[in-house]
Amino acid sequence: QNSLLSATGTTIFTVMSALALEHGAINLGQGFPDYDGPEDVIEAAAAALKDGRNQYPPLTGVPELRQAVAAHNRRFYGIEADPNAEVVVTSGATEAITACLMAVLNPGDECVLIEPLYDTYLPVVKLLGAIPKLVRLNPPDWALPRAELAAAFGPKTKAILFNTPMNPTGKVFTAAELAFIAELVQRHDCYAICDEVYEHLTFDGWKHIPLMTLPGMRERCMRIGSAGKTFSLTGWKVGYITCDRSLAPNVAKAHQNLTFTTPPNLQRGVAVGLLKDDGYFAGLSAHLQAKRDRLAKGLAELGFGVLPTQGSYFITTDFRPLGFNGDDVAFCRALTEEAKVTAIPVTAFYASAGAPSHYARFAFCKGEAVIDAALARLRPWV
Ligand code: PMP
Ligand code: GLN
Repeated sequence: QNSLLSATGTTIFTVMSALALEHGAINLGQGFPDYDGPEDVIEAAAAALKDGRNQYPPLTGVPELRQAVAAHNRRFYGIEADPNAEVVVTSGATEAITACLMAVLNPGDECVLIEPLYDTYLPVVKLLGAIPKLVRLNPPDWALPRAELAAAFGPKTKAILFNTPMNPTGKVFTAAELAFIAELVQRHDCYAICDEVYEHLTFDGWKHIPLMTLPGMRERCMRIGSAGKTFSLTGWKVGYITCDRSLAPNVAKAHQNLTFTTPPNLQRGVAVGLLKDDGYFAGLSAHLQAKRDRLAKGLAELGFGVLPTQGSYFITTDFRPLGFNGDDVAFCRALTEEAKVTAIPVTAFYASAGAPSHYARFAFCKGEAVIDAALARLRPWV
């Protein structure tokens, strides 16, 4: 057995979803909407299914989707990308992250990661034989610790991988923070792998800025998007990478060895989605903002310390004010078993010792009735 994999536990999202099912709990743990994505996107995929679009598509993605990814990049960010040479479609952002890491890391290279971090990052960096350099953001404001970040870069640094808007913190990196990262990446002549799956899920006027749009960064960034998040279709697993033409061939080779291609019918649906009018994208964030507000207000009324969320599907809460005697894992277990509501312990997003253990993450990408029902179950328990 591979020792790195046998040392990796089952993902917390699967563990908590199974526990939710076992106890009949309302699942505000794993981040998936309980509503469907846009009908025209689903129709387009269904039409492609019935239209015989069911054999291997081109390795880097169907032309319609690559063109739509390029058009989306131009419309929202002014990024010019050649759909034939600078876009690679993958089976979800999860594969995209692995493909980008594979494309640039050699054994012994260092890769800077920011904690709290999404759970696939670290195992993949290690499997590639690269050395993770972890830099920790601290609650409640999750500001970038600049001196520590600068110290994590060195002569062996090959890449930084980070996520904005950020799961689980709800943080949107500021222009100043991104400029600081850009400067380090250029000074150390390395790459940035940018997990931007929540790019359209920002609130209160916060705008997502791709690192790729900063001066000097166009050639150094691999920018990752996900149809799962942008179209509320998390089971589809269609991701897309935009990167310079010098990087794309290696990214494509990684994809070739991981999955080779991604279902062509789903790709055609996503192509329709990325070409939807601006109103769709504005509506997506407005609807989610209302859900965030509903859950945040309810949790605050129950006595949780609710941290601000600028983007993503998630609210991070401090449960110390409730007087619970135990850590976040015990809290989320008790919440599921006793209150019948499931959340995710935030320590699952930390790999190094000494992580804060009094935070629970709640997903708000749910119908209003479900959010209200969860709050009603929590009321007598807290
Ligand atoms: N990155 C982050 C930060 C995520 O939260 C997720 C959630 N699923 C992913 C990547 C994976 O996206 P996908 O489902 O497209 O693989
Ligand atoms: N990204 C989702 C979350 O953070 C879950 C994805 C998964 O289950 N692997 O909740």
